[in-house]
Amino acid sequence: MSLLLDESLKKDMLAFLERTVNINSATKDAQSVTKVGEVVKDVLSGLDVKLTVKSRKGYGKLFLFESKQVKKGAPKTLLCGHTDIVITKDLSRPFTIKGDRLYGTGISDMKGGLAVATFAYKKLVEEGIPNIGLLLVPDEEVSSVGYASFLETVYSRYDYGLVFEKADKNENGKSTTKHFHLINRRKGVARYLLDVAGEYGHSGTVDKKKDRKSAIHELVLMLNDVMALEDYSKGTTINVGVVGGGVSANTIAPSARAQVDVRFTANSEDERVDKEIRKIAKKNYINGSKTVLDRDGYRPPMELNDKSKKLFDIAASVAEGMGVSVSSGRRSGASDANVMVRFGMGVLDGLGPYGEGDHDPVSYITTASLWQRLDFAVRFVEQIYS
Ligand SMILES: [Zn+2]
Repeated sequence: MSLLLDESLKKDMLAFLERTVNINSATKDAQSVTKVGEVVKDVLSGLDVKLTVKSRKGYGKLFLFESKQVKKGAPKTLLCGHTDIVITKDLSRPFTIKGDRLYGTGISDMKGGLAVATFAYKKLVEEGIPNIGLLLVPDEEVSSVGYASFLETVYSRYDYGLVFEKADKNENGKSTTKHFHLINRRKGVARYLLDVAGEYGHSGTVDKKKDRKSAIHELVLMLNDVMALEDYSKGTTINVGVVGGGVSANTIAPSARAQVDVRFTANSEDERVDKEIRKIAKKNYINGSKTVLDRDGYRPPMELNDKSKKLFDIAASVAEGMGVSVSSGRRSGASDANVMVRFGMGVLDGLGPYGEGDHDPVSYITTASLWQRLDFAVRFVEQIYS
């Protein structure tokens, strides 16, 4: 462990975690989400950086800290985290320390990672590292929809994105402080809503097949074809997560709907499935029914590019210098990292401390991993600029 982690720094990080974890910042509680950003602002007060604060109705504020001085030719690196959490106030648990674990709702996703990003940023700016930003997204848990266009302008200005979501569980039972599993690929996701309109009727009085225009029957046939678009060999998976419709057992269903979630590893697969789903929605399985299709969510796949490869190589050499082995891989869920890659950034994710219970009221991180990840983050960024 480096000299960076003296006792007063550890005390400051624990105080930061106590403050931020004890603010329940569920995405919809805009004021509380903003308060978490204010705690980061407090810690960074006195640093010579430019702060941009953005507001959108219904969302917490977005905070972006950036170097005032731009050094030409040097890399541009953005440290990233989100200030919102999933679990609401009524279910949340306060910050507590038990043995070598730090507990509290939202600590693994991702107030532990925010602590690492904030204190690493402070140290790096104090060291004089140029062109470095710290971005706090307030609505990541709802796909960062509130600030999408602003985020695109930010992502297009940076080379590298370091995302401090929690460390991945290590395979083969290896210790989480002896081995880092870092994320440089993620699946993309597209969401669809299929809304089918049929025609009312009394089930007992309709005698001709052509007059039985059941929206539920139409939807079932349609979903069967939608599911057939899966391709596990290419990593394309489909889930029909919600279905609804109908009135009663003896009424021909006038309406039915389904929500579909599609995951893919390549843009070409997204395009293939999207084209086919549109064809299916246009098709009439039962004469007289009509379907409205809405694509109501999208994150591109985080594919491995040259900059991401370079980042991983730097991270691996730094980790090895600390006596830690490394591997890289894919995480199934999508994050802001997916969008960064679309804007040409190289990305490494899973840089936060190791923990469990992401979207669970009972959540923890380990103290050993917290200190180690701060040490690692600082050395890693220093190496990017060396
Ligand atoms: Zn997260």
